[in-house]
Amino acid sequence: MSECIFCGIVGGEIPSRKVLETDSCLAFLDIFPANRGHTLVIPKRHVLDIHEADAGTYADVAATAKKVADILQSKLNSEGTTIFQMSREAGWQTVFHLHMHVIPRWSSDGLHKPWDIAPGNEAELDQVLQQITK
Ligand code: 5GP
Ligand code: ZN
Repeated sequence: MSECIFCGIVGGEIPSRKVLETDSCLAFLDIFPANRGHTLVIPKRHVLDIHEADAGTYADVAATAKKVADILQSKLNSEGTTIFQMSREAGWQTVFHLHMHVIPRWSSDGLHKPWDIAPGNEAELDQVLQQITK
């Protein structure tokens, strides 16, 4: 039995409700859904998070998430889509196998952004941009 839940799902040791499968990725329903149709997209090969993934693996996951988003939108008539990708504990990741959350959205669904919206301080914005780009 794999120590990683999502590797267990890829290997078929843990059951899942599959939405889509490609050569390199698997998409299945989240069992603690934020909304109806909430789907997780993972690479079949174990990789921890965005920082450990090579660009090709991340691109495959993103391309599969796009396919899933379109399927959910057309089959469930969702009005919008929210995609989350949490990496590492500080980034709210709880299952340490790279995944994207594809969440169909409706204006009436009551979900809310996980941060408060407030304008940034101009000097801090300038300083962080300098730090990122220097
Ligand atoms: P994270 O918090 O790491 O971004 O997301 C992990 C997600 O995996 C959570 O939304 C959680 O509900 C989901 N999850 C955890 N265990 C299982 C499982 O055994 N099966 C499925 N389908 N989803 C799971
Ligand atoms: Zn894994």
